[in-house]
Amino acid sequence: MYGYDIYHEDIMDKLITSIRKGMSHHAYIFEGERGAGSMEAAKLFAVSLICEKKEVTPCGNCNSCILAKAGNHPDIHILSPLKDKKNIIVDQIRDLLKDAYKKPFESERKVYIIAYGDEMNEQAQNAFLKLLEEPPEYAVFVILAENTESLLLTVRSRCERVKFPPVSSEKIKIILEKSYPNTKNIDFLARYSGGNIEKAKQLAEEEGFMPLRQGAFELLPKILSKSVLESYDVAEFVENNKEDAQTVLELWQDFLRDIILIQNNAEKFAVNTDYIDKLINLSGRTEEKTAVSAMTEIIKAQEMLKRAVNLHTLVLNMAFGIKRGENK
Ligand SMILES: [Zn+2]
Repeated sequence: MYGYDIYHEDIMDKLITSIRKGMSHHAYIFEGERGAGSMEAAKLFAVSLICEKKEVTPCGNCNSCILAKAGNHPDIHILSPLKDKKNIIVDQIRDLLKDAYKKPFESERKVYIIAYGDEMNEQAQNAFLKLLEEPPEYAVFVILAENTESLLLTVRSRCERVKFPPVSSEKIKIILEKSYPNTKNIDFLARYSGGNIEKAKQLAEEEGFMPLRQGAFELLPKILSKSVLESYDVAEFVENNKEDAQTVLELWQDFLRDIILIQNNAEKFAVNTDYIDKLINLSGRTEEKTAVSAMTEIIKAQEMLKRAVNLHTLVLNMAFGIKRGENK
């Protein structure tokens, strides 16, 4: 869309139309999962605000459009956490404050995109609030947020909220087919990414992902077997892929969910379409309560993994738990 990767055309059409009608707000919250298109949408929105032609769509040819496309427009600012910091800190907001009261250089507008806005701490949000209370006439702020509830009510109430739903797997499939024509398993990647286009692209580029998934799949019978001894192989596999432990657990979870779906005649919702025959075979040999108990234990392990714990013990307990649960 207008030279930008836009995954939510209908939402953007509405937004751009509203600013052309002179109904723009000073501040917006673009709410959606990180990687699911809200940043691209914010960039297109910014260029629509500064385009010199002011036609229905950004022209793409004026000086402002060209500078914006190259990421060099002096009146479009993108604020992200500093390199060694997790969140946007109050000092960054104070700098933004000073900058915002200086008139635009090139355009009639100045646009600030605040990435990870919901992760600003309270101090930073309070500093930002001052700006929202007395915004300069020409300024527009776009806060990107996964969880709008993390923003102070006083900030939220001054912003127009725009929701960006996950990108449909059909759309992700089309994009992947165009960008990665040589990649196999596109159907799987489109489903597995859960509407997150950045995740889908990243996985398509990551050479180690498919072999890791193959390895995870091969261990499924051992996870579902009655033998306690095989738990050690499961734990060893995760330990050998320490860096990707969370991904391995996620892959197992998805395989098991597919098995449960197949057992309930709902395989059209399965994610692992390229393994479907093997999964049908495995589901025929697995009791549903075993699959369900395995899912529960894996979800528990995923939660525990977020806190730093001994990985080997954690996965071993998970595998034991599956066999215990099955005997209940
Ligand atoms: Zn233009």
